[in-house]
Amino acid sequence: MNSLQYLLGLIFVAFFALSAEAAQPAPQPTAGKAVQVGNFSVVPLLDGSHSFPLKLFKGADEAAMLKIAGTQLMPGSFNVFLIKRGKERFLVDTGNGTLFPERRGQLPLSLKKAGTAPEDIGKIFLTHLHGDHIGGLVKDGTPAFPRARVHVAKAEYDYWMDEQARLQAPENRRGLFALVRDVMRVLEQNKLLTFFTPGEELSPAITSVALYGHTPGHTGFLLASKGKKLFFIGDLLHAAALQFSRPDITVDFDVDQPKAKETRLRAFKQLAEDATPIAAAHLPFPGMGLVRAEGDGYRFEAFK
Ligand SMILES: [Zn+2]
Repeated sequence: MNSLQYLLGLIFVAFFALSAEAAQPAPQPTAGKAVQVGNFSVVPLLDGSHSFPLKLFKGADEAAMLKIAGTQLMPGSFNVFLIKRGKERFLVDTGNGTLFPERRGQLPLSLKKAGTAPEDIGKIFLTHLHGDHIGGLVKDGTPAFPRARVHVAKAEYDYWMDEQARLQAPENRRGLFALVRDVMRVLEQNKLLTFFTPGEELSPAITSVALYGHTPGHTGFLLASKGKKLFFIGDLLHAAALQFSRPDITVDFDVDQPKAKETRLRAFKQLAEDATPIAAAHLPFPGMGLVRAEGDGYRFEAFK
């Protein structure tokens, strides 16, 4: 390669880096409307926006999926939830943080909009250990929430620490294991990590519920207070436009595809029967509302 080709190459790379930046402006930091659940109030926090291409989904041919979704790129968000009671402050998941700079994680600014400082957070409940849920935990090699106990299902932690599991994962996913291990190491060094087995109550009125499939220890959290409920479902589903009407459709990054499908079918049935509202990590912000039965499937009734 001569120097002119090299220079042109650099210009080419710089141009595409810039257009990628321009295509993804940082979202406005947002703390949504608080939802009252008995003695608690839950504030949805926006970490970022993204879209899911149809080709990530499995279980129907693309034409059928396009007909249901109506678009090749389905909108989604990275949602984090702040739980408040009196002076207590908890988080469900932590978004991308600085782990993926191109996603421009806005959680710290959204949290500030909610009038909460990182030091105020006493507990963090992790639905699972994918990077877009644990990315906000560590900043510059130290805990971003210095006083928060971080609750992780033991089965989830064990999976990501397992060398066999890493080697069995598709090659392009193996890097995720290193990323999880780095974040966990910082928490362990600071004695902030706590394990649980789904089914356990993690705090008064907050119970962990196994939703295995998306990952081996994927967990939901049921908040129940004074006859009111809210179920934090993490990544039970990804694309609202597709998976409410066809909950049998899975996404490429479900670690155990059949189990993810089975768990979603069972959970949707129960949620619709009980009319338990959900708070979801990837539904368009604020990602809160009700699952309603419709035809052979379901539909989402978002909170206004
Ligand atoms: Zn996710």
